[in-house]
Amino acid sequence: MPHDYDENHVHNLLPAEPALRVKALETILLEKGLLDQQAVDAIIDEYEHRIGPHIGAKIVARAWNDLVFKSMLLEDAETVLREEGHAGRQGEHVVVVENTNTVHNLVVCTLCSCYPWPLLGVPPAWYKSDAYRSRAVSEPRAVLSEFGIDIPKSRSVRVWDSTAEIRYLVLPIQPKESIGLPAPELAKWVTRNSMIGTGLPQRPKDDQ
Ligand code: FE
Repeated sequence: MPHDYDENHVHNLLPAEPALRVKALETILLEKGLLDQQAVDAIIDEYEHRIGPHIGAKIVARAWNDLVFKSMLLEDAETVLREEGHAGRQGEHVVVVENTNTVHNLVVCTLCSCYPWPLLGVPPAWYKSDAYRSRAVSEPRAVLSEFGIDIPKSRSVRVWDSTAEIRYLVLPIQPKESIGLPAPELAKWVTRNSMIGTGLPQRPKDDQ
């Protein structure tokens, strides 16, 4: 049954914009003493400045250069990442999926925006959009094409739906031109999108 729009309905007193809703909720929780402002600021600072895709990039670069590390990562990323100190919020139960010449992996969260925060930081806005969440599943090749990637027909596209239980990180194919570089240099080739599957590793801009 359609739900009639009612301007006077109490729910309409809530701000329409999610950011305003969050602000309103935060204000109430702070006023009631249920939330500590310093704790909130510390978490935001951590995810804005300390944690980001450079962490995932380091892991990928190391896997490219170290086959033993790579096989451990593919087999049991959770243990490897915990030992490396990359656990934490939304970082439990990470599974690493490897791109090969026969398969390209693409990660989405169809339900909301589950994402490996300790490895990639906060998710980009498009990752949370309705369009990406539905189209990544219904027409992944079209979505990839819009991101500038055309996957050959001979290569299958595998879509992984992240959940609160499992989050995925893509291990992209190492570009041939980067083979032999030391890990710190290699990490610069690993873009955030290449670890979601919506991009490929790229020669760093300062190297072109
Ligand atoms: Fe989610």
